[in-house]
Amino acid sequence: MRKPIIAGNWKMNGSRSDIKTLLDGIKAGMGDVNAAEVAVCAPYIYIPDVAEQLNGTAIGFGGQNLSTEAKGAFTGEISASMLLDFSCKYVIVGHSERRTLYGEDDTLVAKKYAVAHAAGLVPILCIGETLEEREGGVTEEVCARQLKAVIDEVGIGKVGDGVIAYEPVWAIGTGKTATPQQAQDVHAFIRGMLAEHDQGVADKVRIQYGGSMNAGNAKELLAMADIDGGLIGGASLKAEDFLAICTAAG
Ligand code: PEP
Repeated sequence: MRKPIIAGNWKMNGSRSDIKTLLDGIKAGMGDVNAAEVAVCAPYIYIPDVAEQLNGTAIGFGGQNLSTEAKGAFTGEISASMLLDFSCKYVIVGHSERRTLYGEDDTLVAKKYAVAHAAGLVPILCIGETLEEREGGVTEEVCARQLKAVIDEVGIGKVGDGVIAYEPVWAIGTGKTATPQQAQDVHAFIRGMLAEHDQGVADKVRIQYGGSMNAGNAKELLAMADIDGGLIGGASLKAEDFLAICTAAG
């Protein structure tokens, strides 16, 4: 039985005071969340505040990106050890905004996964197709290519230590959610691909859905057999909405 994981991706949003209000609200409502693992991925600069505010709670936290380098002359970058220094557990790798806006290709994403895993972080690997790719009938091909790059880099066993987020790019921040069946089909495809390498990994890896998941559609999506949680952008910025999703997960 896979424990669902709901993770907020705050992206570049919020202020110190917004984050305090948000986390106070989430902490206050956590009593209603029974079965889900809950985490938030914050902008780097707010991670120390988040660490302090979540100290002693069951809510995990992490970064939204990391460098492939350990240290040195890499202006503006943050290393895995820096994230660990502030007790981060998770880090998102390969978010579609990093892939499209910052030119991160499959090779770089796979390297980031490897570096995060080697450091002891839990990578949340984002994969997913654009609208053009979906309409072109290559959704599975794209997801397979993105996932294969990571399997080739680290081996299937280490993929088993991470979390996969299937995020159709056309659904991210657009208000257009994949239908539960559309999402389930791709999740089942991803799990099937993992199973071709290792059935044990396929059975244990949690595959989140991401793309305009909200309080209104979470229950239906999370009810699907291969959807093991959500990566939540916009709806993670309001405690009430985020908690509703966490509660829907169990
Ligand atoms: C995301 O950024 O990973 C995401 C799923 O965003 P949203 O929920 O806003 O679509």
